Amino acid sequence: MSKIWDAIIIGGGAAGLFCAGVAGQLGKQVLVLDHAEILGEKIRISGGGRCNFTNLHSSPANFLSLNPHFVKSALARYPSKEFIKLVSSYGINYHEKHQGQLFCDDSAKQIIDLLMAECAKGRVAIRNPVVIESIAQDQEHWLVQTNAGSEKTKSVVMATGGLPVPAIGATAYSLDIAKQFGLSVVDPRPALVPLSFTADTFGDLYDLAGLSLPVRIASGSKGHRYGACRFNEDVLLTHKGLSGPAVLQASSYWVEGEPIHIDWLGAVEVAGGFNCDALFADEDNRTKLTETILASVLPQRLAKAFAEQKNLLGRKWAEVSKKDRQALKELLTNWSVKPAGTLGWKKAEVMLGGVDTKDLDGQTMMSRQHTGLFFIGECVDVTGHLGGHNFQWAWASGFACAQAL
Ligand SMILES: Cc1cc2nc3c(=O)[nH]c(=O)nc-3n(C[C@H](O)[C@H](O)[C@H](O)COP(=O)(O)OP(=O)(O)OC[C@H]3O[C@@H](n4cnc5c(N)ncnc54)[C@H](O)[C@@H]3O)c2cc1C
Repeated sequence: MSKIWDAIIIGGGAAGLFCAGVAGQLGKQVLVLDHAEILGEKIRISGGGRCNFTNLHSSPANFLSLNPHFVKSALARYPSKEFIKLVSSYGINYHEKHQGQLFCDDSAKQIIDLLMAECAKGRVAIRNPVVIESIAQDQEHWLVQTNAGSEKTKSVVMATGGLPVPAIGATAYSLDIAKQFGLSVVDPRPALVPLSFTADTFGDLYDLAGLSLPVRIASGSKGHRYGACRFNEDVLLTHKGLSGPAVLQASSYWVEGEPIHIDWLGAVEVAGGFNCDALFADEDNRTKLTETILASVLPQRLAKAFAEQKNLLGRKWAEVSKKDRQALKELLTNWSVKPAGTLGWKKAEVMLGGVDTKDLDGQTMMSRQHTGLFFIGECVDVTGHLGGHNFQWAWASGFACAQAL
C-alpha cells in the first residue's frame, strides 16, 4: 500500500467515470472502484438504449433539491453545451427528440465508450468487480479497504448513484458513507416513476392500457419539500395505472396521500386556443351524442369511457342536464385522483433525496465537515426532470469535483 492516489472514486457510472477522466487529464492519479462486472449499465439502458445524454435547455429550474440554488455553480461551470462539444468531438451523431432532449442516433454504448476513452486519456486506473469493505479517515489520508486489498488516497469521491433498478447493482452505499461521517441524508424516494391506482379510483381506465395522449398535469403543493409542478406532456394508460412523460414528471413532486390533477383537454391544439365551455355551448353539438362530441377532442376510446363514467353514453347533448355537463367538465379538465403509490425502485428512473446539500460545498461537492470526502451524481439530493437533466447533473457535479481534487 505504498502508493497514495490523488483520488479514489467509488462507483464507475456516469458521474464517477466522467469525474475520473477530467481529473486524470488534469494530471491527477485516479483509481475507480466499482462492484459491478460491467461498468455503465445505467447509461446502457438509458433513453431506451439511446441515452438522452443532456438537454439543450438544462438550467437550475429543471432540478429538485431541498436547496434549489445548490446546482447553480456546477451547472454554470459545466453547462450542457460543453458535453455536447465533447460528444461531437468523438463523432457521435445525435438528434433532438423533444424539448431540447438530445439522444444518440445509434446507441448509448457510444457514451460509455466516450467515458472510457476519456479515462484512458487521463491514465485512470479502473478496477471492477471489487467489493468496498470500508472507508476510513487516517490523519491527512483516506483508507479504502476492498476485498482485493487496501488503498491510500488524498480524496475519496462517492459516486455510487441512486437506488433505482437494484437488479443492475444499485446500492445505498454513498448514503451509508455520508451517514458514517455525520452528513445528513434527505430520505430517498423513487422518482420519475409510474403511478399505481386502486380499482375504485381508476375504474374502467385499465381497459384502455396502451392509450397515450397529451395532457396538462399538476402535482405536489407549495408547502411540500419540493413544491408543486405543472407539465404539458403525454400520459400513457397502463395495466397498473398511469405512466408516460407527464406522469413520470409529476411523480417527482407527488406527495403520498394527495391527488394528482389531469386536464385531459389541456393540451388539445385548436387554432385560436381550446375552450371546453365553447365546445359544450356549440349549437351544432345539440343533436350529437355525448361521446361523439368528446371524440372530437379526445381519442375515441377515452371519449367513450368518460361518457360511460358519467352515465352519458348514448345520450344526446341537448338532453344532458346542466349539472351533468358541469360534472363532465370537471372530469375532463380537472380529473383529481389519488394514486395508491408508485411502482417503486424497480421502475423508477431516479432517486429523489440523497446526501443533503447543506453539508456539501456547491463549488466542489466536498463535505463541509471532512476535507477530501466528495459526493457527486445521483447520490446527492439533486434530482433532474425527465429529459437528459440527470445525466447533465452527473457531468456537471463530476466536473466541479474533478477541479477540486
Ligand atoms: C431505466 C433508466 C433510464 C434512464 N434514462 C436516462 C436518460 O435518458 N437521461 C438521463 O439524464 N438520465 C436517465 N436516467 C438516470 C441516469 O441513469 C442516472 O441519473 C445517472 O446514471 C446517475 O449517474 P451516477 O454516476 O450518479 O450513478 P450510476 O450511473 O448509477 O453509477 C453508479 C455506479 O456505482 C456502482 N455502485 C453502486 N453501488 C456500489 C457499491 N456499493 N460499491 C461499488 N460500486 C457501486 C454501480 O455499479 C454503478 O456503476 C435513467 C435511469 C434509468 C434507471
